[in-house]
Amino acid sequence: MDLTVGVEHLPAPGATVLGHGFRTTPGGKGANQAVAAALAGAPTRILGCLGQDAYGQALRRALSDRDVRTEALLEDPSTPTGVALITVEASGQNTIVVAPGANARLAPRDVEAARPWFDQAGIVVLQQEIPVETVEKAVAQAAALRLPVLLNPAPARPFPLPRSLLEQVAYLVPNETEAAAMAGLPSLEGEEAVREAGRRLEGQGAPTVVITLGARGAFARTGGQELWVPAFSVQAVDATAAGDAFVGGLAAELVRGTELAMALRFASACGALAATRPGAQESLPDRQQVLRFLSE
Ligand code: ADP
Repeated sequence: MDLTVGVEHLPAPGATVLGHGFRTTPGGKGANQAVAAALAGAPTRILGCLGQDAYGQALRRALSDRDVRTEALLEDPSTPTGVALITVEASGQNTIVVAPGANARLAPRDVEAARPWFDQAGIVVLQQEIPVETVEKAVAQAAALRLPVLLNPAPARPFPLPRSLLEQVAYLVPNETEAAAMAGLPSLEGEEAVREAGRRLEGQGAPTVVITLGARGAFARTGGQELWVPAFSVQAVDATAAGDAFVGGLAAELVRGTELAMALRFASACGALAATRPGAQESLPDRQQVLRFLSE
């Protein structure tokens, strides 16, 4: 759950400031991406862990209201639901503190228990807001079933992902910051740095790498081939969840059998539309809106 407050200036350590416009809105990368995929037209189920509290109930409702199946969503009675405390300054600068709470309780054995849902799936989408061993278990379980995995390595981990894991991830989809961190590059400024990041991530084992670059679009590297995906020109007001819209839209298209270049164009439209609206889950476009936008 995102708890957001506006302030004139971010408080200095020890200071108290008055805020305004406090909002409680459903968020979390996994939940945002699940809603994005469902809105993009893919039957979607989420595996995750909530606390037994009001935020947990509200998040479950927000997901099922957007047609995400929640039967596999667990509850841990001893831990609060994960929250992000977000402070936004008038200048647009922000600070974010994430307290993972129940997200940290999602264990490899829960992935094992969810095996029947894996049997029914066409693709598995993962992020890193759950424990690394749980991500590893999900990747291995999907690989054993020959299910493609899309890993959004967000937030970035302070250590490299093992080659054995990356080799089993069909689509690795980092944003600019995560790609730079994983590739060991100071920044992805300039086309050559982006291409170098693609080469390095492929060298680490990922068969297909898609790097999202905000208003610069996206870059893909697959089987030694490079592909630039231009961004759509839009009036961006808030890029929150643009990456989640991209990931959910990409997964939904891939699972329909759309080839990569076309699926990336669809995903790019999802990201662009999300950037034109404020908020996280409430900013995500549905399939009709994306198709209309693409035909304009
Ligand atoms: P994240 O939110 O994870 O940092 P990005 O900012 O890279 O992700 O955005 C994901 C995708 O959304 C981009 O690759 C692009 O296709 C689209 N997008 C994001 N911001 C804009 C923008 N200002 N204009 C057009 N498209 C955008």
